[in-house]
Amino acid sequence: MAHTCVHWFRKGLRLHDNPALMAALRDCKELYPVFILDPHLHNNTCVGINRWRFLVGALKDLDCSLRGLNSRLFVVRGKPEEVFPELFDRWKVTKLTYEYDTEPYSLSRDKTVATLAKEHGVEVIYKISHTLYDTERIIEENSGKAPLTYNRMQVIVKTLGPPKRPVPAPTIEDMQGAMTPCSENHEKKYGIPTLEELGQDAAALGEEQFPGGEQEALRRLDKHMKRTGWVCSFEKPQTSPNSLSPSTTVLSPYVTFGCLSARTFWWRLAEVYQGKKHSSPPVSLHGQLLWREFFYTASVGISNFNKMEGNPVCTQVDWDTNPEYLAAWREARTGFPFIDAIMTQLRQEGWIHHLARHAVACFLTRGDLWISWEEGQKVFEELLLDGDWALNAGNWQWLSASAFFHQYFRVYSPVAFGKKTDKNGDYIKKYLPLLKKFPAEYIYEPWKAPRSVQQAAGCIVGKDYPQPIAKHEVISKKNIQRMKLAYAKRSGDSAESANKSPVKRQGTKRKAPSVVDMLKKKDRRK
Ligand code: FAD
Repeated sequence: MAHTCVHWFRKGLRLHDNPALMAALRDCKELYPVFILDPHLHNNTCVGINRWRFLVGALKDLDCSLRGLNSRLFVVRGKPEEVFPELFDRWKVTKLTYEYDTEPYSLSRDKTVATLAKEHGVEVIYKISHTLYDTERIIEENSGKAPLTYNRMQVIVKTLGPPKRPVPAPTIEDMQGAMTPCSENHEKKYGIPTLEELGQDAAALGEEQFPGGEQEALRRLDKHMKRTGWVCSFEKPQTSPNSLSPSTTVLSPYVTFGCLSARTFWWRLAEVYQGKKHSSPPVSLHGQLLWREFFYTASVGISNFNKMEGNPVCTQVDWDTNPEYLAAWREARTGFPFIDAIMTQLRQEGWIHHLARHAVACFLTRGDLWISWEEGQKVFEELLLDGDWALNAGNWQWLSASAFFHQYFRVYSPVAFGKKTDKNGDYIKKYLPLLKKFPAEYIYEPWKAPRSVQQAAGCIVGKDYPQPIAKHEVISKKNIQRMKLAYAKRSGDSAESANKSPVKRQGTKRKAPSVVDMLKKKDRRK
């Protein structure tokens, strides 16, 4: 039987390595590529303007690629559970395909839609292609639990062998027999939204550093893969959080939206590595993709993964509620230029380096402000182009030493850390031009500059730029003690419940090294 098929794009905004789309094209007479603007996911409180722009770009690019296959993208507005029954009837749909998505909201949404499909006699096919592996298979292989250390993850992944190879993008030949019926008012009815329609003020946007879309993703991937030496010697801890142009790939927004398949990324790296000496996980680029897989698997195997309460691996900490501190951090008003420059870059460009994320996340939580990582997670979700439910939650837990990483006594200094890779403070000068006339000696600590220096720089601390929000040397020591208490309580609790929660037992025994530790160990071995 020839099918009338809807392929539902959600993440996975690409044609390459899209096995669900290929499944849609099998025995297909009519194909409807659909994207749903879902008010639950696409609302203005959790999506910042830069991410909107990225999404609109990615949809335009997808529509353009589909046109190349004599098809079109249908953007439908509404809740999936309300939209689908209508579409099933209107188009007489017999098959629905989509990429499997592991987020809790997506799982419950997809369950509802699959039930509705069944009621309408629509066959449902989904395929795993957002992650390198089937994360549930990893959990199964690890006796039903998510691996809680990277080392353990590596052991499991080794037993599974390399990830599946990506499937090629459909060609015109693959589309033979599958036509997309488009009406004359397609644009009006199913067109890609403008930023205005989304309630965004396009005038507020800065220069677009990272345009959305599969073509751009593949172009950027190609560009990086040509840098053979750089790829082979890539070691994440050696990259800089405050270089003036990114020191890592910035492929994350593309991987998050699925404009770039993680498996394509993996296998292109494998081609570059072939026959050459190259770095290894956890610090290599393959290693970075395994970090992604690690946190995705954790998010599938650990309940309430984006929360402290009810999350069995997360240390329960008595974080403060302090809206003023939170606003100062979010709005780049902490008085620590390194922190404020990073938060400015985040707001303006939607991407910051991994170690810059370390610095601001540690500062907000266990380092200085003692504010819950869940608050930081929300801000990142809104502002990051690569905002990803699983990776954001996992990394915030790591940085706040709530889970996975437990050396809470190792705190980043908001002054010394940035100086290591940018003595002159050029990065600060770029993002906080107000401070650009400060001499290098004071750029990280302008409050220490004599009044005459502040006057000469045209910036008086306390008037033009804030005084530091906290005395780092004092507060960080106090916070280490508070963290020590939380850990002591956790040990007590887990001793009590040792026979109740296997995940917790594993969590408390473990002492996970940081990437920097691992690198140091590796250096010692050399
Ligand atoms: P590269 O170093 O070039 O790495 C290549 C790819 O590997 C990345 O594109 C990404 O897909 C993956 N990757 C790299 N580092 C990590 C990591 N630590 N965890 C998981 N995957 C990784 N990353 C997100 O994609 N979305 C998020 O919402 C997110 N939130 C974070 C929150 C905090 C507090 C921290 C500390 C890190 C967060 N990260 C997140 C992880 C990491 O910082 C970014 O993936 C990375 O900086 C992206 O830049 P890149 O593409 O140049 O990375």
